[in-house]
Amino acid sequence: MNRDIYVVVEQVDGVVQKVGIELIGIATKLAADLEQKVVAVLLGDKVKGLADTLIQHGAEKVIYVEDPMLGVYATEPYTKALNAIIEAKNPEIVLYGATSIGRDLAPRVSARVHTGLTADCTKLEIDPETKLLLMTRPAFGGNIMATIICKEHKPQMATVRPGVMQALPKDSSRTGEVEEFKVDFAPEDMNITIREVVKSTHAKVDITESKVLVSGGRGIGSAEYFDVLKELADELGGLVTSSRANVDAGWIGRERQVGQTGKTVRPDLYMACGISGAIQHLAGMEDSEFIIAINKDTHAPIFGVADLGIVGDVHKIIPLVIEKVKAINE
Ligand code: FAD
Repeated sequence: MNRDIYVVVEQVDGVVQKVGIELIGIATKLAADLEQKVVAVLLGDKVKGLADTLIQHGAEKVIYVEDPMLGVYATEPYTKALNAIIEAKNPEIVLYGATSIGRDLAPRVSARVHTGLTADCTKLEIDPETKLLLMTRPAFGGNIMATIICKEHKPQMATVRPGVMQALPKDSSRTGEVEEFKVDFAPEDMNITIREVVKSTHAKVDITESKVLVSGGRGIGSAEYFDVLKELADELGGLVTSSRANVDAGWIGRERQVGQTGKTVRPDLYMACGISGAIQHLAGMEDSEFIIAINKDTHAPIFGVADLGIVGDVHKIIPLVIEKVKAINE
């Protein structure tokens, strides 16, 4: 008998990664449909202290494994720990963030426990009849959405990219069970030597956190025009983002790309400036609260998802918008 929905919550340097909290959010919906519990799994060295946060965000139980071997992520010891938990507890479903760590760990675990894995899901739900997990993700270059099931093997496993699912608000009054799970690590479980951990010196931008995004597409015409979009984004207290076309052209960094192969965003306001609205772009932004599209082509698909569409030249419209917003801000 398989039980419960497990969420592998990543922590890096003792900081819980947001995607783990988002996954607990969707797991609570799945758990309600299956009448099962949400269990968060924490792996690391000295991570017990993070359990409360996970309970406050919806986990009913936290299982943690603490060991110096799990201090910095390494494939083999993490796989061993998770494999041991899955074998002992027999969960129904296991969810992972589609982060660098999740993308390394989840396939290893799926091979070890001999089950399937659906990567980069954009939707997860329970089939009311079969009670199986329906895992939906873009396929064939984003041209179709494929719903995948894993009916012959358990647990059913999926990865989900950061920003796709919604976290539950923190409720400090929530309580839950915290269980330590012991794994006997042997020296040979660490099959690599970590000589040094070098941290990126780049100031990281996280476009998924911003409430306002001003996004430029090929229609802005030049890399320099991002400076104008930044002026508007600054006035609105937001960040500049981009379609893939401009990222590929080297006009802006990849960390700013919105879409299927970029980030999934859900801001309060998304301004699409000179973006056509290809399906791969829409996949990353169509759930934004309010979308304004500026495009000179009346038939641009972006207008299909826009709450407000402005047909015209971005180079004429954006300066007018900046002027108005400045006047309001003053
Ligand atoms: P275009 O499609 O060239 O559109 C430019 C738009 O600007 C046009 O609609 C035009 O009317 C308008 N325009 C031109 N001049 C002006 C002006 N002066 N004023 C106003 N409007 C103007 N794309 C992404 O964005 N994100 C992804 O993550 C992504 N992943 C992909 C993954 C795969 C597997 C594939 C195959 C493609 C992916 N793409 C992605 C690419 C995607 O298919 C499109 O090619 C891309 O989104 C187009 O970018 P764009 O809208 O900026 O450019």
